[in-house]
Amino acid sequence: MPYLVLRIEIITTRDWTQWLDTRRAEGLERRLRVGQSPQGVSMRVDGRELLTFCSNDYLGLANHPDIVAALQMGAARWGVGSGAAHLVNGHFEPHDALEFALAEWLRVDRSLLFSTGYMANLAVVGGLVGRGDTVVADKLNHASLVDAAQLSGATLRRYRHGDMADARRQLMRATGTRMLLTDGVFSMDGDVAPLADLMALAEEFDAWLVVDDAHGFGVWGEEGRGSLSELGLIDAGVPEYLVQVGTLGKAFGTAGAFVAGASQPVEVLLQRARSYLFTTAQPPALAVATLASLSIVKSATDLRASWRARVAEFKRGLPPGIELMPSQTPIQPVLVGDSTQAVAWSTRLADAGLWVPAIRPPTVPQGASRLRVTISAAHTPAHVEHLTNALTGLGFTQNPDFPPPP
Ligand SMILES: *Cc1c(COP(=O)(O)O)cnc(C)c1O
Repeated sequence: MPYLVLRIEIITTRDWTQWLDTRRAEGLERRLRVGQSPQGVSMRVDGRELLTFCSNDYLGLANHPDIVAALQMGAARWGVGSGAAHLVNGHFEPHDALEFALAEWLRVDRSLLFSTGYMANLAVVGGLVGRGDTVVADKLNHASLVDAAQLSGATLRRYRHGDMADARRQLMRATGTRMLLTDGVFSMDGDVAPLADLMALAEEFDAWLVVDDAHGFGVWGEEGRGSLSELGLIDAGVPEYLVQVGTLGKAFGTAGAFVAGASQPVEVLLQRARSYLFTTAQPPALAVATLASLSIVKSATDLRASWRARVAEFKRGLPPGIELMPSQTPIQPVLVGDSTQAVAWSTRLADAGLWVPAIRPPTVPQGASRLRVTISAAHTPAHVEHLTNALTGLGFTQNPDFPPPP
């Protein structure tokens, strides 16, 4: 009932005070912090030096000198703005070269560049399915996949996280063209989708399988080819029904995103995806920078070994009684439960010189607020020790009442 009253008030008075106050009271208010030094494992933020455990810059490439130099050279050669959408006159040689290089790296026919991963997801789902079709999606998928499914007009059927029996039930009830939609590595939990089972379901039900591996590409797999490669599922080639989405703003350290797959679905996106057609192409200089990043990513075996070593040290160094989520990736969330509690811990860690963000609803389910620790290849053993010592020293406690799995 109070919810209803609130809605009426919003609609009739256009006054959001009560909504804002409620969010504050529930520990759900979000606040911007201003970085005063480049992205990195140590940053100056709002006048303080903080050791960061929150970015998705998993290989520490966001401020890599070779990539910075490539961006500068790219700007000197190609200018700043692309000036138009790809299909008008905004598509340049560096874009083309990067699309070719990404496709070659992933051993697929073709790839298509987007300005952000959010837009790439809108394109893949809305481009390949629509009214009368069915999207079968994991309940913990990234918000952009949820939005993409809703915007597509297809029926959205969500299965319990990682529950393949539930996914199969939803597929059996599905009408029209079917699409299985999943994160590769789940962004807030760090676990990996059951990709082998999803591939089998896609084959059985003649469905598309769209894997958004935003947190997998670069991070693991042979030459950084992501989760499907890490699990050995594409050694024999990438099947035609499989479409992969990657973002370039995470392990690649640049910005933008790509869709990669067989020629036909990629061509369909180029022809009709609205978030491809009706937006300005990313700057060509950025594509030059990402080409430099891709060549580092492919050979970054040492960096991939490095984050794994830091994750192992983090797990070993935690005080007794702290349980992590089942994650083998750089995403190592510490479940707290209550939002206010999570914010309080994040604040105490900041006072100890550490930036570990509290992740709260609606990013995660109610009662599942957490400290989302992310480890980077750029962290040193001393950095990780600083974090585990702080968690120990502050007497960090975890709510023993784990929320039931969603
Ligand atoms: C970050 C993220 C996106 C969005 O990518 P951007 O390039 O940041 O827009 C999409 N999907 C997942 C799973 C993500 O983690």
